[in-house]
Amino acid sequence: MTPAVPPIQELAAPAHWRTVDVISDLHLQASEPATVAAWQRYLQTTPADALFILGDLFEVWVGDDAIGDTRDADSRFEAQCCALLRAAAQRMAVFYMHGNRDFLAGPAFLAHCGTTGLTDPTVLEFAGRRTLLSHGDALCLDDVDYQRFRRLARSAAWQRDFLAQPLATRRAQARAMRNESEARKHSGQPYADVDGPAAAAWLRAARADTLVHGHTHRLAEHALAPGLRRLVLSDWDGAAQPPRAEVLRLDAAGLHRVVPD
Ligand code: MN
Repeated sequence: MTPAVPPIQELAAPAHWRTVDVISDLHLQASEPATVAAWQRYLQTTPADALFILGDLFEVWVGDDAIGDTRDADSRFEAQCCALLRAAAQRMAVFYMHGNRDFLAGPAFLAHCGTTGLTDPTVLEFAGRRTLLSHGDALCLDDVDYQRFRRLARSAAWQRDFLAQPLATRRAQARAMRNESEARKHSGQPYADVDGPAAAAWLRAARADTLVHGHTHRLAEHALAPGLRRLVLSDWDGAAQPPRAEVLRLDAAGLHRVVPD
């Protein structure tokens, strides 16, 4: 059974925007400095008027109170990333949608970085078309265990209990969850993908023809139904050969994939 379409946020681009960039799944972490460097170069050189980050910018986010906790190496790393984002947000509008790794990035994080939070999904009205933006995890319906965890972890009670724990406990729990998901990935179980009929239902409800999402790391373009398509964003890995770092750029000419210099 296809679940009900969630409420869809509407965002009309200001008339002066010429170029909009969309990225996701950078999974920034201290152990992968090449990805951070690529992201920093990109932020400093993009001609975009607005940047939409569709989730999983960070490999994990365990609470806004960690920002700038100088005793903790991961927190110092996060503070460095926030400083880059904050500098970028002074030159262009930056919007932030949660992924499944950083769904605890809260109002303090958004304010600190000068970014605006977006609910999932959001329809962007820009350059004469409506584009539906999502992280994508909510559409991976075949992963029943994950959908159950997602509902739980998005509840106020679960978040309150999780955030009430000391930072070190939260980091340890996040590591354990990540190890579990890595083990599952390597166990040969098929990885759930975006459900086509559900994605088409979202597009019809949004009166949009294109869904842009991340999460699956399976860069592709899929036809969902006549006139309806979904574009999957690339993840970023600065240490891969060749490095993966790709932006989906929207402008008057349409949507194109761009590899930053
Ligand atoms: Mn994800």
